[in-house]
Amino acid sequence: MSLDSFVAGLPKAELHVHLEGCLEPAMLLRLATENDVDIGMSTEAEVWAAQDYPDPALSHFLDYHYKCLRVMQKPQDFYDLTYAFIEICRDNNVRHVEIMFGPMAHLERGISFAGQFEAMERARVDAGRDFGVSVLWIMCIDREHTIEEALELLELAEPYRDAIVGLGLASYEKDNPPNKFLAAYQLAKERGYRLTAHCDCDQENSTEHIRQCLDELGVERIDHGLHVLDDPTLTEQVLADGIALTMCATWRPRDPEPRRMRPIKQMLDLGINVSLNTDDPSEFASRHMTHMMTEVLDRSTMTTDDMVALMRNAFDAAWISEEQRSVYLSELAAYART
Ligand SMILES: [Zn+2]
Repeated sequence: MSLDSFVAGLPKAELHVHLEGCLEPAMLLRLATENDVDIGMSTEAEVWAAQDYPDPALSHFLDYHYKCLRVMQKPQDFYDLTYAFIEICRDNNVRHVEIMFGPMAHLERGISFAGQFEAMERARVDAGRDFGVSVLWIMCIDREHTIEEALELLELAEPYRDAIVGLGLASYEKDNPPNKFLAAYQLAKERGYRLTAHCDCDQENSTEHIRQCLDELGVERIDHGLHVLDDPTLTEQVLADGIALTMCATWRPRDPEPRRMRPIKQMLDLGINVSLNTDDPSEFASRHMTHMMTEVLDRSTMTTDDMVALMRNAFDAAWISEEQRSVYLSELAAYART
């Protein structure tokens, strides 16, 4: 079996992907036209070129990301995006996906929580049925907002509580430490949400932010979490408490190779529950799971066994029932044996 077909057929799980980062260029341009939103791009070539920004800083990516998501206006747009992404998951043999969504950026444009989420949830049910993909929702606080807005978000989500598995924290990390949202995390925990939070790569105070997530917010996962490796105490804590790190090897067109491959391999070798994820697959050259994993396999010292281990970690850390988990893990083990 070739490496390409091995990766294509590998049963996959993804734990770190943002719905708004799944707007494929064709849909982005269609919605921009339909909803009369000027994004300064009118061809797919222009969209791909815009993703090749020279400075890899998080803020440059986020500025692009927020410019694009303004094309989403109607409930049908949220439905179409969700449905289309779950179809892509099927095509990548992603058996289970936990999709992060960020309501705050849409709320501030006057789109109600119900207007967003009811359409997304309908699409989740329809596409889950049509494509046989298991999908859970993780609601993200955009951390540049206030704690009051975060608490209000939890109230808006309350009627849909049973349809949302977890709470996350994303977006502009500079000057927005995790403990800014301590009260929201405490409330979410009381309400039964599973907890995760972004500690992005190459941020100021990154190890302190990880410490806050672990010791104050009480998260079960960290999204990225690269800088756990900078501090032996944090590394030990993550190992001892079984904290999952959802790393992303994403790259821009100009990057010579997938980013963060060495630390991902190092985490695997240390026995950390690290997984491989696409983050915003329509906004990076790394694209979707099969393409990303094939490139990582081709260009790093990681082996097919490592790819299996990364997927086993994702299924192990997934917020699914033990019955569901054992089905997926058996399927993965059977595939690995072939
Ligand atoms: Zn992310």
